[in-house]
Amino acid sequence: MADGMLGRLAKWLRFMGYDTAYDSHASDPELARRCRSENRVLLTRDQELASRRGLRSLLIHAENLQDQLREVVVGLGRPEEPPLRRCGVCNSILQPVDREFVRPRAPKYIVQTHREFRYCPACDRIYWPGTHYQRIQEGLDALGQSLTDHTREDA
Ligand SMILES: [Zn+2]
Repeated sequence: MADGMLGRLAKWLRFMGYDTAYDSHASDPELARRCRSENRVLLTRDQELASRRGLRSLLIHAENLQDQLREVVVGLGRPEEPPLRRCGVCNSILQPVDREFVRPRAPKYIVQTHREFRYCPACDRIYWPGTHYQRIQEGLDALGQSLTDHTREDA
């Protein structure tokens, strides 16, 4: 669960394989309540919020995204799910789809140069590896882990 200032971080945590709820409108008490009831860790830049009793939280210090990802990976451990399993926008589980499905929905050069695609039925978005994997790998570097451990079978 990330607070309203961490939207970009929330998106990339989803791509990395963390089940991440994000609410840019929730008040502090609402965030705290939701974290407790859904047994989530609250990611926040707010020291006061992070120190509330009975709340599992991780205080984010870094300003830039890459350092923030490292803070989370070090603080929470490796993601519980494989990368690119969740939609970065809405947190829904993505579905693997084939080229024929993607062809009318994505730029031609993307369809031609990639073999692996995922689809979000909730917000009608297509995802493909590429720049996503590079950034996810940079996050995982903090753990000394390789993304290829997860994706080798696709190659
Ligand atoms: Zn989505």
